[in-house]
Amino acid sequence: MKTKAISILGCTGSIGVQTLDLVRHYPDAYNVIGLAAGKNITLLKKQLLEFKPKIVSISHVNDAKELTLFCKENSLMITIEHGEKGLETICKNPVDLLVMAIVGTAGIKPTYIAIQNKIPIALACKEVLVSAGDLIIALAKKNNVPLIPVDSEHAATQQCLATQNTIAPIIKTITLTASGGPFWTLPHSEFKDITKEKALKHPTWSMGNKISIDSSTMVNKGLEIIEAHHLFNISYDKLKVSIHRQSIVHAIVEFIDGNILAHLSPTDMRFPIQYALDYPYKKQTKFKGLDINKLSALTFEEPDNTRFPLLNIAIEAGKQKGSYPAVFNAANEAIVTLFLQDKLTFLQIHTFIEDILAKFNHFIPKTIEDIIDIDTQIKHDILQTT
Ligand code: MG
Repeated sequence: MKTKAISILGCTGSIGVQTLDLVRHYPDAYNVIGLAAGKNITLLKKQLLEFKPKIVSISHVNDAKELTLFCKENSLMITIEHGEKGLETICKNPVDLLVMAIVGTAGIKPTYIAIQNKIPIALACKEVLVSAGDLIIALAKKNNVPLIPVDSEHAATQQCLATQNTIAPIIKTITLTASGGPFWTLPHSEFKDITKEKALKHPTWSMGNKISIDSSTMVNKGLEIIEAHHLFNISYDKLKVSIHRQSIVHAIVEFIDGNILAHLSPTDMRFPIQYALDYPYKKQTKFKGLDINKLSALTFEEPDNTRFPLLNIAIEAGKQKGSYPAVFNAANEAIVTLFLQDKLTFLQIHTFIEDILAKFNHFIPKTIEDIIDIDTQIKHDILQTT
């Protein structure tokens, strides 16, 4: 396999760091061209020294100035940019694969620009497809740009589907598994006492803050159902959720002839990331695999819509199409931000989102700018008034 030139947007986040860990383990397989980070300049500096990219972007102009000086002091020949324009530069720079690991809807525009420039994408940012799925998928199809899922359930689904010659008409159901999050066994009467610290403690996965909160409310699985709908062009009535506490089986595909394929892998995001990096090929892993005989029972349960109503609210928003999923997603992002700032309670996450979805004057977005406007407006309204 020839060396793959890659860029990573969101290089200091959980997925970005794990992607670079794979680069560290396979120095001949990947060549890091572009890196973009938000605020974590300390970690970014370490990454520049280790991976020596050609272009780097950071959110704030002052951080960019500091990085320029840092590169000079360390004799690093790196072009430093900042802000939206910096992201755009990286998205236009030709590479074999762009890893989109920015948190939330900030990934929409960069993804769109990369697809316009025909750059293959490893998509870790599910919010892009949740809010702008119809437009993103249409452009990717038109430009023949592959969108390779990094999300574990979707990488799993794609691998199950890849065993078949034809796809959509032969699928009966696709089931995405969910760990149930940290509160799966907690009685509803105790939900009022849930703190941010408790919500951030995910039982099986090590992940960033936003997705950890989304897992605790089950919003994450709702977003993933919408993501799967777009990625696999499959109707919502064929998409199911199963609570699987062990997080070993990531997706289950049932075909119309009754045969079922399930995908298993360790609870380690480096497996789906490596799948996306090497797609359509595979190479020897350097990480600890599963010892099937050491596994305890694998259990599967129905989701609980009484204690976790946001799962169905998210899926309903997806089914409604138009501005609904973008509004749901923006409201959730802003409300999770407030929850992480201790400005509202765990139970208010649900009531606030429902309220915002009901009050919005819904319409059918025609362009990416329409989606970004919805996103900006909803977040502004929530963050200003709370
Ligand atoms: Mg996932």
